[in-house]
Amino acid sequence: MKLVAATSNAHKLREMRSILPEWEILSAAEAGFCRDVEETGSTFMENALLKARAVCKELHLPALADDSGLCVDALGGAPGVFSARYSGGDAAANRKKLLLALEGEKSRAAHFCCAIALVFPDGREIAAEGRTEGRILEKETGEGGFGYDSLFFSDELGMSFAEAGEAQKNAVSHRGRALEALKQQL
Ligand code: IMP
Repeated sequence: MKLVAATSNAHKLREMRSILPEWEILSAAEAGFCRDVEETGSTFMENALLKARAVCKELHLPALADDSGLCVDALGGAPGVFSARYSGGDAAANRKKLLLALEGEKSRAAHFCCAIALVFPDGREIAAEGRTEGRILEKETGEGGFGYDSLFFSDELGMSFAEAGEAQKNAVSHRGRALEALKQQL
C-alpha cells in the first residue's frame, strides 16, 4: 500500500517506515503537500484526524497522520497536545521548561500517547491509539531519539528512550503500539 505521512517530522517518518516496512510511506513534502495543518483539536485523535483528512483531501491519496505527546501526572497531563509547542521554542527549550516545572517534584510518572489516523480518498477512516509508561528523569540521559526522549525513562526498557536503539524503542513505544493496532484493523 502506498500512502502519504502527514508529518514534517523526519524522526516520526523514520519510525513509521521502520515499524511498517511493508507499506511505501511518502513524506508529505515528497507527495507535494508543503504546508502545516493547524492542530486545533483538543485531543490527540482529533488532531491526527484533522491532519490525515487535510492531506488526503488535497492529494487524493491514503494519508497517515500521527499526533502524539507527553503527559506528566504531576502536571495534570501537561504538556499533552501542546508537547511540540510547550515552551514556544525548540525541543531543547521544551525539555528545559519541563525540567524546571518538575524541579523538586518527587512524583515523576508520565506516559507518551499517540493517536494514528489513516484516511482513504473514498472516505474510509481507520484510527488507533498507543501508550507507553515511564517517568521523567532529573537530567537528560542518552544521545539518540528526538523531542523528550532523553528525559523519558521507559519502565519497560529500564533506560531512557534516547539510550534505546531504534528497534528497542519501536517495540514498546506509543507510536509502535498505535501503528501495530492500526495494522490489526486493516
Ligand atoms: P505533534 O504530534 O507533531 O503535535 O508533536 C508531538 C510532540 O510530542 C513532538 O514534537 C515531541 O515533542 C513529543 N513527542 C511525540 N512523540 C515523541 C517521541 O517518541 N519521543 C519524544 N518526544 C515525542
